[in-house]
Amino acid sequence: MESEKGTLPMNEVYNPGMNVYSEIYRKSLEDPENFWAKQAEILTWYSKWNKILDDSKKPFYRWFVGGKLNVSYNAVDRHLEQHRRNKAAYIWVGENGEEKIVTYDGLYRRINNLAKALLNLGIKKGDRIVLYLPMIIEAPVAMLAAARIGAVFSFVFAGFGAGALAERINDSKAVLLITADGGFRNGKVVELKKIADEALEMTSTVRNVIVIKHARNDVNMVEDRDIWYHEIVGDSHTYVEPEHMDANDPLFILYTSGTTGKPKGAVHSTGGYSVWVASTLKWAFNPDEDDRWWCAADIGWITGHSYIVFAPLILGLTSIMYEGSITYPEPDRLWEIIEKYRVNILYTSPTAIRTLMKFGEKYPQRHDLSTLKVLGTVGEPINPAAWKWYYEIIGNSRCPIIDTYWQTETGGFMIAPQRGLGLPPLKPGSATFPLPGVDPAILDDAGKEVRTGEKGYIVFRRPWPGMLMTVNNDDERYVKTYFSKFPGYYYCGDYAVKDEDGYYWLLGRSDEVMNVSGHRLGTIEIEDAIVATGLAVEAAVFGKPDPVKGEAISAFVVPKDANADRHELISEIRKRIRADLGPIYVPDEIRIVKLLPKTRSGKIMRRVVKAVALNQIPGDLTTLEDSTSVDEIKSAIEAFK
Ligand code: ATP
Ligand code: MG
Repeated sequence: MESEKGTLPMNEVYNPGMNVYSEIYRKSLEDPENFWAKQAEILTWYSKWNKILDDSKKPFYRWFVGGKLNVSYNAVDRHLEQHRRNKAAYIWVGENGEEKIVTYDGLYRRINNLAKALLNLGIKKGDRIVLYLPMIIEAPVAMLAAARIGAVFSFVFAGFGAGALAERINDSKAVLLITADGGFRNGKVVELKKIADEALEMTSTVRNVIVIKHARNDVNMVEDRDIWYHEIVGDSHTYVEPEHMDANDPLFILYTSGTTGKPKGAVHSTGGYSVWVASTLKWAFNPDEDDRWWCAADIGWITGHSYIVFAPLILGLTSIMYEGSITYPEPDRLWEIIEKYRVNILYTSPTAIRTLMKFGEKYPQRHDLSTLKVLGTVGEPINPAAWKWYYEIIGNSRCPIIDTYWQTETGGFMIAPQRGLGLPPLKPGSATFPLPGVDPAILDDAGKEVRTGEKGYIVFRRPWPGMLMTVNNDDERYVKTYFSKFPGYYYCGDYAVKDEDGYYWLLGRSDEVMNVSGHRLGTIEIEDAIVATGLAVEAAVFGKPDPVKGEAISAFVVPKDANADRHELISEIRKRIRADLGPIYVPDEIRIVKLLPKTRSGKIMRRVVKAVALNQIPGDLTTLEDSTSVDEIKSAIEAFK
């Protein structure tokens, strides 16, 4: 794999010396007590903890025990005293080009006003609130207003339908829903309030619905239940004293993406989570005070929670926030925004990069991207071909790519190049090294550490401050999912390899690993080789039961050129895989499709491809982005019958 992917000579320009990293990393493992006591000063506490880590009820780890703080105070109030009153917290851009700049002072006023309105509605500390909102300023405002009064929020991505929303309201037993009349997507209005009304018919806990007027579509307001936001949130300066929360009071519940099965409600803490997200953003990206930071995810995902809302606000940064599609009105929307707002750091996903890559270089080339200095990615392993495009075309071979490996459950980055501590030479497709406090290992089925270069299951050998506290309402599922496969270790559910230089490579989900004639093959390696041909945009690989080999390799491929000759395409792909990876990796079948099933956060759902291809029932589809992808797979199979 190394010869194909190579190492980029970036040290001279960016690397202040890996020895800084090594030293800090070593300290974090050797003396965690002192390390975290010092690192926790990234926050302002009302009172300090009396214990850094309580591990007496393993695996229910508790951090900064006894510490008191409020996240909204840390995200906003304290900046007013630190000369950031008039600094932009958010530069908000609407799909139609509308723009709104909200300063830290403006954010403070909005949060206090909403917090007051919530108290007036009888919302108390510990109550659960569901947020079903588009990418508007009121989204971070609602999250922080909830945090200010100690209510636990659960954000449901606005792309989800009524069933998924109802399921999350029921699981969290929310008493209040905050939504909007509608949001904008590809020039159309998504009628959120209407979907919320449908969802509420399937739930019984919600007493009130607060509705934000945004898209100005007609909505039905239910008497005594529904309230307009602007009618209860005054425009004057109110002040709500922040609740003094315990470090281990829950801050929010967020459901995982549902790539592998039924989503799990990860419960995140107030203290440990906040220390973790602020620290990891600083370590990995090292933004400067004046940088414009753009995490182009949706707030409805953990990436948005941690790196659009909590970490950048705790650090006092200026963020770009964009409501709308990255290809609307044209596929240069991201590049246009970068040029117009002189963005310095862009953090996005492999799926976005692959999508934009498909449209070619002419779109980024229309824009001046010279303000960019760092690029980042998250969500899936990034195909080296997509990495190179991002590096060369978007970053003009100047910007390091911070490939961040982490999960909803981990709260923040776990493995990533760390610009703040000294960048290693980057290898396209590798997330490189663990963050301070992260202690990974790669195990075989028997729980033994594999040798360098061998593949296995990635685990974390010790807890870290940002880890989930439990699965909502289901301690048992928490223990079973994360701590039963290898007792004592946190099991990530991903497959990885560590190379001879100590770099970590993520090779996909461990339940998607194939066993082909006794060889354990990761799906990602083959997908990367397919994309590396330059003929395909993306691919989904899975194992099909085979009487001889155990499993046979099946690949569904989205070609770059929809009109390309299928037979030539398939034979070229086979040839390349044979050359790059070896004959055992060559797929037994390759099928050409127009699109692949993905989660709404853009991850390829191999389990759905596999189930449909094997004529099985594909399981939970509530997080599926577009159901036509399922028909697409079916017709590809039909075509070959
Ligand atoms: P579910 O757990 O419900 O199946 P999910 O795992 O997709 O959904 P997330 O928490 O959004 O939910 O995603 C975390 C997963 O995404 C990781 O376990 C890993 O498989 C993948 N991932 C995220 N970032 C990276 C990365 N940089 N490199 C490789 N894989 C990544
Ligand atoms: Mg997961």
